[in-house]
Amino acid sequence: MRVGRDRMEPAADKTESGDRGAVEQRADAVEGCPPVVPRSEWGARPPRLSESMQVPAALAVIHHTAMPPGHTHPACCVQLRNIQRLHMDERGWNDIGYNFLIGPDGTVYEGRGWGVEGAHTRMFNNKALGIALMGCFTDSAPSLEALSSARRLLHCGVSLGYLLPAFTLKGHRDLGSTQCPGDKLHSSIRQWASYRP
Ligand SMILES: [Zn+2]
Repeated sequence: MRVGRDRMEPAADKTESGDRGAVEQRADAVEGCPPVVPRSEWGARPPRLSESMQVPAALAVIHHTAMPPGHTHPACCVQLRNIQRLHMDERGWNDIGYNFLIGPDGTVYEGRGWGVEGAHTRMFNNKALGIALMGCFTDSAPSLEALSSARRLLHCGVSLGYLLPAFTLKGHRDLGSTQCPGDKLHSSIRQWASYRP
């Protein structure tokens, strides 16, 4: 099995300025995978605890963050730190809840990452990959860029062996009492072949 995590770690000499070229280069090493902005680049705190989830997972769950997204890379990084603070300090979780988050321009940000149990879907965290699109999609539609990145990331998960080729995709609301991921995002993912109600 090819494991991409090491390749997605930042180069040791990488600076805080955030070299996006380096991100592209790392991702190119993994066929079919979108570039992923590593935790170090958005200023993540270390997790309190990191536990493995069942892989390859048979289930992936789509969420929204239900807050207005940042519209630039720096603004997204600020928001990621705020979400992590909310999840760790107010909700008492071990880390930011999701495995990955996707900005409105389609940039993929590493949350807990591949193979790590998240805190996003009650009763399913140890067996489902959790991906959040940044924004609130109750009334407004997600961008095509964000949807495209989500699909690439799911495909990548299959390529890397973290998702079963025949995985099932659901929205958070399909598994619990919540509006997440919003009507508009939910109606988008319902069109995807991997979606099952
Ligand atoms: Zn959710």
